[in-house]
Amino acid sequence: METKLFSFKGGIHPNYQKQLTQDKTIERGLVPDVVRIPLVQHIGAPATPIVKVGDHVKMGQQIGKANGFISANVHASVSGKVIAIENRAQIGGVVPTIIIENDGSDELDDSIKGYWHLEDLSSQDIMNIVHEAGIVGMGGATFPSHVKLSPPKEHKIDTVILNGAECEPYLTSDHRTMVEHPEEVVWGLKVILKGLGVEKGYIGIENNKPDAIQAIKNVCNKEQNIEIVVLETKYPQGGEKQLIKAITGREVPSKRLPSEIGCVIFNVGTSRAIARAIKLGIPLIERVVTVTGKGVKVPQNLLVRIGTSFEEVIKQCGGLVDSAAKVISGGPMMGIAQGSLEVSVTKGTSGILVLTKDEVAEMKPYPCIKCARCVDACPMGLLPLKVANTVQAGELDMAMEYNILDCIECGCCSYICPAKRPLLQYIRLGKAKIRSQKR
Ligand code: SF4
Ligand code: SF4
Repeated sequence: METKLFSFKGGIHPNYQKQLTQDKTIERGLVPDVVRIPLVQHIGAPATPIVKVGDHVKMGQQIGKANGFISANVHASVSGKVIAIENRAQIGGVVPTIIIENDGSDELDDSIKGYWHLEDLSSQDIMNIVHEAGIVGMGGATFPSHVKLSPPKEHKIDTVILNGAECEPYLTSDHRTMVEHPEEVVWGLKVILKGLGVEKGYIGIENNKPDAIQAIKNVCNKEQNIEIVVLETKYPQGGEKQLIKAITGREVPSKRLPSEIGCVIFNVGTSRAIARAIKLGIPLIERVVTVTGKGVKVPQNLLVRIGTSFEEVIKQCGGLVDSAAKVISGGPMMGIAQGSLEVSVTKGTSGILVLTKDEVAEMKPYPCIKCARCVDACPMGLLPLKVANTVQAGELDMAMEYNILDCIECGCCSYICPAKRPLLQYIRLGKAKIRSQKR
């Protein structure tokens, strides 16, 4: 399988800049005096607080309860006292946040217990444990994992794919997770396979991570039902639809879900979190974060407690350089620029990227020269120029006809455009307007 590289149509080859952190071992980050834990760290309804100001909480204790099926539980990442529950500016906007003063003891909640014997667990048990542990997609999508483990009955799932592509430039948290914790990643896949009653699992890894491929291979060499697929290094190889196409040859039709063609995808970090929830009973209270970019003094991969501020994390990496100009949650292609360093690391924070003034020099857009490079680069087969133009002209019905909702917001079109047209910005704006009209 390793002789042929698997890929998809379209995409780009950006400057990856992974050398800043790809060989840096994951270090345990310092635990802050105060954590600010948002109740919205996932796609779906915000969790409901189940503690009050003044309560003493233990590490791993549930502090926010999932509000409905498409939602996720939230747990204390330290032990200590709840000192406030208030709305605060976080990565995606202002959201209710539980603030805990750390007592420094890391006293573990009594409810935490592991289940070492996978054979004793039913699919329902696995789904329940993953639900209890508040696990969501850790590649950035933050879709609740228990929902993926219970697809609609009419969707016959036959393929599980672990996403180890990590195609976004700069980020190396998944890479290091595969190199340093391959047993847990693979064990998590076995749990997922059992949970979904599926025989065959794949782990897709881009060919720019030979050490990760080798580490996973070493663990999988006796596993008949797990196949490692080496993928071409190309952005956005880790997009769900692109990964499915590259690995299975199947295409997810427009406006359909991967589960409708029998596929379910989990990120490798999520797989590890699932393994830890089952074996050790540990809910999702910490994650690996790549802190990187020329704007940070000592780029690193850190294991960070959920609720730690970006400021604390950057401080542990030597702080910012004088020319630091822009802080992004995630990578440069799909990440979100942050206006404040007080925002918290959440379950979906795969990276903190700091760019310098030179790197963010203002880009003045020019008129389109009709070169069609955006069309060639679009991995979804869209006409980005047309979609953006219709949004700009306020013709949302026409934008729908150009399949604007199929856009995965990968940013390839904006990246490749020689005229520096802000195509993705228009497309995001159009999607937001259409969603609000629907509501
Ligand atoms: S139109 Fe959307 S999917 Fe296509 S390249 Fe642009 S951002 Fe990516
Ligand atoms: S890449 Fe830019 S200049 Fe070329 S067709 Fe697309 S929008 Fe126009």
